[in-house]
Amino acid sequence: MAAKRLIAHTNTPFVRVAVAAPLHGLFDYRLPPRLSARVGCRVRVPFGRRRVIAVVVESMLDSDCRDDQLKAVDAVLDAAPLLSAGDIDFLRWVAAYYHHPVGEVVATALPLRLRKSEQALLPGEPAWRLTDSGLQAAVSPPTRAPRQAELLAWLHAQPKHVAAAGALRAALPDAAPALRNLRTRGWVEHSELAACADAIAVVDGPELHEEQARALAALRDDDGFCVTLLDGVTGSGKTEVYLRAAADALARGRSVLILVPEISLTPQLYRRFRERLGETVRVLHSAMSDGEREQVWHRVRLGLSRVLLGTRSAVFTPMPDLGLIVVDEEHDASYKQTEGFRYSARDMAVVRAQRAGCPVVLGSATPSLESLRHALDGRYRHQPLHQRAGGAQRPRVALLDIRDQPLQRGISDPLMARVSEALARDEQVMLFLNRRGYAPVVSCFSCGWLSDCPRCDARQTLHRGSGMLWCHHCGAQRRLPTVCPECGGADLHPLGQGTEQLEAFLAERFADVPLIRIDRDATARKGSLERQLERLHAADAALLVGTQMLAKGHHFPRVTLVGVLDVDGGLFSADFRATERMAQLLVQVAGRAGRGERPGQVWIQTRYPDNPLLRTLVRDGYAAFAREALAERAAAAMPPYSHQALLRADATDMKHAEAFVEAAVHAARAQAVRGVELWGPVPAPMTRRAGRHRVHLLLQAPQREPLHRLLRGVVPQFAALPQARRVRWSVDVDPVDLY
Ligand code: ADP
Ligand code: ZN
Ligand code: ZN
Repeated sequence: MAAKRLIAHTNTPFVRVAVAAPLHGLFDYRLPPRLSARVGCRVRVPFGRRRVIAVVVESMLDSDCRDDQLKAVDAVLDAAPLLSAGDIDFLRWVAAYYHHPVGEVVATALPLRLRKSEQALLPGEPAWRLTDSGLQAAVSPPTRAPRQAELLAWLHAQPKHVAAAGALRAALPDAAPALRNLRTRGWVEHSELAACADAIAVVDGPELHEEQARALAALRDDDGFCVTLLDGVTGSGKTEVYLRAAADALARGRSVLILVPEISLTPQLYRRFRERLGETVRVLHSAMSDGEREQVWHRVRLGLSRVLLGTRSAVFTPMPDLGLIVVDEEHDASYKQTEGFRYSARDMAVVRAQRAGCPVVLGSATPSLESLRHALDGRYRHQPLHQRAGGAQRPRVALLDIRDQPLQRGISDPLMARVSEALARDEQVMLFLNRRGYAPVVSCFSCGWLSDCPRCDARQTLHRGSGMLWCHHCGAQRRLPTVCPECGGADLHPLGQGTEQLEAFLAERFADVPLIRIDRDATARKGSLERQLERLHAADAALLVGTQMLAKGHHFPRVTLVGVLDVDGGLFSADFRATERMAQLLVQVAGRAGRGERPGQVWIQTRYPDNPLLRTLVRDGYAAFAREALAERAAAAMPPYSHQALLRADATDMKHAEAFVEAAVHAARAQAVRGVELWGPVPAPMTRRAGRHRVHLLLQAPQREPLHRLLRGVVPQFAALPQARRVRWSVDVDPVDLY
């Protein structure tokens, strides 16, 4: 498309808009002379047979399309832009990077309500104001209407003769009739008070220890863009560094964006930020209503609130004068959106900081190999925090060889003995098993029947509480049969353990000890997690059983013993990232324990005590593990030493998925870009899921540039392939899993 002249003038005859639809490209419309729409405003436009809400991304003096082909904008929905030109620029860059339809990317940056409702919920408060004639009337008030006189005098005494309607009601509770009369006389009029900025109230924290001070100084040093990897164990004081850096940014009149993996699991973090920085800290989370979310979004966008704490999608929130971005637990997989628009909030946080010219801090006790590589190469500053703040000791970590050990419900005798001892000392114990439900599979001992999911290449998990067999991949459920569906025998048995079973077993074994299970099923009801945690904090001896939810955010200061029942799954997965994830999970779980006075101990059960990576992790810690894992990745030319994109296709018929990917390979080859390897079509690791057959094409390149050049050329062609009609497909740039 020819270059368009961009102009600042507001009344241009054409606009180019982004429509939230799975179509690449932008759309031009005529702007009737009576309307004016600036870049960043929403408009209502005819689109196909519908009317849709779209966002203006350019205003233009002319369009490539012939005038009579262009439809006109129906209505302009926002008087002032919701997104700045810089925001739109960023979003267009993001769309290009992920080869994703720009309209959907722009939509992601808006709160859901603004995508559906035409009227924005702008912050502001209804108010009453004296008019000019009202002002004169206040000087010589009507003597026969004392109520009106009183009201006039009161309003006259207010700053600028305006008062919030609420304040007026509170001061003069039965002034409503007088108000009506004054309004009829034209002495008062309806008005709106500008929304107030939130109070910023910085409270000093503890004096920083040396490593923290060094990390903070690095952030101050360099006011412009820089990436700092704050690499410190849990409890080493990373959050304290974020708080100081945020206070600094606030003092300079800037805004701060804090990204966290999950907010519902960490209400303490929000409280801590509010206590230290004041009401200006706002949060966006999924439990808020759409209206509440939109309010926060506007407040932050308008600079009324200066600190935003949010999850993944908050990375796209418009913020003026951005002065700092923090990505806490930067290794966490939840920063990557795994369906629809598949972006990495961590990576986009770095890009955003670069565009804003501000520092970004990536914090973790277990940094991703991607970030570590940048740190080792010197592109990121590496700021380690070695000690735990407040002097708590590090837990001792050891492997427990279970090759010749009898297991009771997955627990070996030596581990069980340590659990009993710890409980007898009135200490708390945490057992980690990353499998929810009662048992991962049910089998018939007579004929060998297994509880396969009818729709996936996977087993259905037994959930005993509900008596259901349940597929964790597609959600398919059925009652646990009483007799074998295959042979009719009554010899059905659960195989293996999940947290539900572990809980039942331990409840019997340690009947007088409080027992708490933390996993997605046990905490599904709102508030139940908090109640569980309160019970735990009130107890002396206690048992805690859970999945990876244990690794997220919470601290269990009274836990002195952590048992990890099964790590072996992470060692032999088809996914090359499985070991990294296993190591992160182990270290995170271990780090949640023993922050009190008594040192913690961590026991990891394994049948592979000689596994080199596992040994390194246990003996020398995560940093040493990560260096070895990076060396392995480098040798195998895997990310972060190469760049990937994954084309996924699925169809009800395997042939259709294959044919599409085959055609995609063809189209990619035709681009003749050197330096990109094409691996596929290959069946996905889980070939059938939710009744659909899945085929992949992995694109990999040592350099990013040729990979993206190829994608730029070919992705827009995919939709036009005749084979595309029978499949669902998606492109995942920088995939974090290959499933
Ligand atoms: P992280 O974010 O790395 O888990 P935190 O910042 O939450 O660590 O710090 C852990 C605990 O240590 C908190 O209770 C915090 O208040 C305290 N703390 C942090 N830094 C210091 C310090 N310099 N002096 C004293 N206590 C500190
Ligand atoms: Zn059977
Ligand atoms: Zn299934």
